[in-house]
Amino acid sequence: MFSNSLIELDRAHLVHPVASYRGHERTGVRVLRSAKGATVTDAAGRELLDGFAGLWCVNAGYGHDSIVEAAARQMRELPYATAYFGLGSEPAIRLAAALAERAPGDLNHVYFTLGGSDAVDTTVRLIRNYQTVRGKPEKDQFISLEQGYHGSSTVGAGLTALPAFHANFGLPFAWQHKIPSPYPYRNPAGSDLEAIIAASLAALRAKVEELGPERVAAFYAEPIQGSGGVIVPPRGWMKAMRDLCAELDILFVADEVITGFGRTGPLFACTEDEVVPDLMTTAKGLTSGYVPMGAVFLSNRIYDTIADGAGEAAIGHGYTYSAHPVSAAVGLEVLRLYENGLLENGRRAGTRLQAGLQSLADHPLVGDVRGRGLLAALELVVDKARKAPLPAAADPARRIFDRAWNNGLVIRAFGNGILGYAPPLCCTEAEIDAIVERTRRILDQTLEDADVRAAMA
Ligand code: PLP
Repeated sequence: MFSNSLIELDRAHLVHPVASYRGHERTGVRVLRSAKGATVTDAAGRELLDGFAGLWCVNAGYGHDSIVEAAARQMRELPYATAYFGLGSEPAIRLAAALAERAPGDLNHVYFTLGGSDAVDTTVRLIRNYQTVRGKPEKDQFISLEQGYHGSSTVGAGLTALPAFHANFGLPFAWQHKIPSPYPYRNPAGSDLEAIIAASLAALRAKVEELGPERVAAFYAEPIQGSGGVIVPPRGWMKAMRDLCAELDILFVADEVITGFGRTGPLFACTEDEVVPDLMTTAKGLTSGYVPMGAVFLSNRIYDTIADGAGEAAIGHGYTYSAHPVSAAVGLEVLRLYENGLLENGRRAGTRLQAGLQSLADHPLVGDVRGRGLLAALELVVDKARKAPLPAAADPARRIFDRAWNNGLVIRAFGNGILGYAPPLCCTEAEIDAIVERTRRILDQTLEDADVRAAMA
């Protein structure tokens, strides 16, 4: 059969990202065939609600003809133009200008990449260049957060704090350091939000002191930690950390690869905390996943310092597909859609999703409900007082993902039982309600599992 032979071909030849290769060989691939709005259809014709917008990226939703047409038009006219040799293309220039106009503060310079990982890589390279040409080459140490995710390039995977990205990869590098996450649900500083902020500030100060104040180049943070389990820092946390970085002469990098482009409400989540980072990374929602693209935003100061440092010499950082015209044409059309109703719909849908998930807070398995806008998580526990996670032996993440799938819902399941949500901004009220209802069913079914019942007893 069509899909059976695909499963065999996949098993034999396609290496899947962030997967157990042997586990995947056993379970086999689930092939998706088509999608429209917030619904994906698998090879057997089954429809599922995509509660995760692909991989937190299809913010506009699937099946926008205008995006397809923008790409097709650009492919016909000029499918590729290098941005090397002083060349360029109209959509890339227009997209850079449109993004700079909308970015916070003086983040006026945009470097286009192919996705988030190479955006993070670009920041590390440019920061080293910046610190060197301003006469501080000894500033070569980088700090990020536990539970942080900053991509899968060798450098980004080292800034990432997820064990699977380090084990057997020789990471992190000696110049990459972590401080604890401001994880309100599980924070040694307790649940008081001011105390959590104070603990983060103290941890950053202590780490800088340990490394040598003259050695630290930059601090990286996601406005909401996505792949670490949708961890929402207290309001004011990012502003406090940003201000401390300025005081300590450390660059503050906001990694908005997930939070950018309406995921939490506005175009950029750092604006909700009135933060202007020194550098900002984006990808995913930039093109809504229709084609690959990322963008690094640089402040005037960083751009000018790097530019003046090199003078007439070339600054050796670039990709064949930097500023790709087809991706840029898609980015322009996606931006137009965001600003013609999608951001607004996303904000309404986000309020409904947060309220809907909060209505599950008294379910016996729900330890924590958290999120902002269309980014949310439920953290499951078998004992609310002790915050004890689901039994690890039976791979709760796999079980929850499968159960969601069987209930017609795609979500992300993390660790020992965190359900992650990032539905498209186009979701209707009925679709948001269905996500919540199907989640309730997943929880009720999980409550029937013998090992979960035993752990609760
Ligand atoms: N940074 C953050 C915060 C991310 O969530 C991701 C991907 O999920 C990346 C970087 C890497 O982006 P990509 O997978 O496009 O390389």
